[in-house]
Amino acid sequence: MYGIGIIKGLGVTLRNLIRTPFTIQYPEKKIPQHSRFRGQEFSWYEQRCTGCASCAKYCPLGIIRIVTDPNGGNDQDGGSYKVEVFDIDQARCMYCGLCVEACPYDALHMGTGFEAAKLTREELVLNIDTLKERAKHPSTWFRPQLERIEFDPYQEQSLDWSEAGREPFFWHPKRPAQIPDEYDHRATSSGTYESEDN
Ligand code: SF4
Ligand code: SF4
Repeated sequence: MYGIGIIKGLGVTLRNLIRTPFTIQYPEKKIPQHSRFRGQEFSWYEQRCTGCASCAKYCPLGIIRIVTDPNGGNDQDGGSYKVEVFDIDQARCMYCGLCVEACPYDALHMGTGFEAAKLTREELVLNIDTLKERAKHPSTWFRPQLERIEFDPYQEQSLDWSEAGREPFFWHPKRPAQIPDEYDHRATSSGTYESEDN
C-alpha cells in the first residue's frame, strides 16, 4: 500500500519531537566522566620515579623523552637516578596507556582532562616542571589501588604521592631517607616510619 513509508517516517519525527534530548550545551554543561577515563594531564610523581625509562621504551610512538643522571644523589640500594628531563609530547599521544602499564613504580598515571587545547604543537609538550608542579588528579585506569581507596579524580584535592602506589610507601626501608621533608608526612621524630596498620 502506498504512503506507509511516509507515515512511518512522520512517526519517527513525532517520536523525536517529544523525547527529552540527550545532547547537552557544552561547555556550559558537562557529562560526568568515569574515573577510569584516559585523558590528558598525565600525573607523574617524581617521588616514585626511579628514572628506569620503562614508560619511554614501551611507548609505541616514542614520544616520552627521559634524561637521567646516574650520579644524581639517589644512591641507595636499588635506588633511582636523578630525572633531569621528562617530556611527554601530547600532540602525538594516542592515550593508549601503555606507558602507564609499563611503569613498575606507579609513578606515571593517565590524566582525566580533555580540554588542554593549545595553539602550537610546542605548547603541547608536557615538560618535567609542569609535571612536577601540577595538581595530581590521576585516572583510576590500570590503578586498582585508587579505586580501593575510593579516590575520585574529579574532586578538588590533589592525590599525594604516598597514596598513589600499590604498596605502602615505606616498601623500601632506605627510600624514605631520600624523600624531601615536605613529602614526608609519616616520619616520626625518631626517624622511623609508622605503618598505617599500627
Ligand atoms: S599513552 Fe600511549 S602514546 Fe601516549 S605517551 Fe603513553 S604509551 Fe605513548
Ligand atoms: S615514570 Fe615509571 S616507568 Fe617511567 S621512568 Fe619513572 S619509574 Fe620508570
